[in-house]
Amino acid sequence: MDKTLFEKIIDREIPASIVYETDNVLAFEDVNPQAPVHVLVIPKKPIPKLSDADIDDQSLLGELLMSVNIIAKQLNLNNDGYRVVINNGENACQTVFHLHLHIMGGRGFSWPPG
Ligand code: 5GP
Repeated sequence: MDKTLFEKIIDREIPASIVYETDNVLAFEDVNPQAPVHVLVIPKKPIPKLSDADIDDQSLLGELLMSVNIIAKQLNLNNDGYRVVINNGENACQTVFHLHLHIMGGRGFSWPPG
């Protein structure tokens, strides 16, 4: 199967502005930011979407959320707050089918989202 864009970023085949990396997780700036800070956090394991994760992925999913916490501190987002989003599937407007968490900060957000 063809690699997704994000697998190509993991393999350094296409460039990205990387802000955080561990053995299991990579985070980089979104190429089309929707906020002053917009970072994508992905597992290196190619899980297409959240609903494809299974019980074996439990600790990896925890590591992704903890990574959000670490990156938000690193980017000084804690004082004002920030939003974390996972788009899962078509109705949610997922466009890249490699699980990713959006961290968005640096501005206020409204609720409910569109
Ligand atoms: P989704 O809509 O699937 O939740 O989010 C996919 C995100 O990936 C979008 O915010 C989009 O801007 C971002 N994106 C798409 N292609 C690239 C790319 O080549 N590099 C980076 N850094 N982000 C990308």
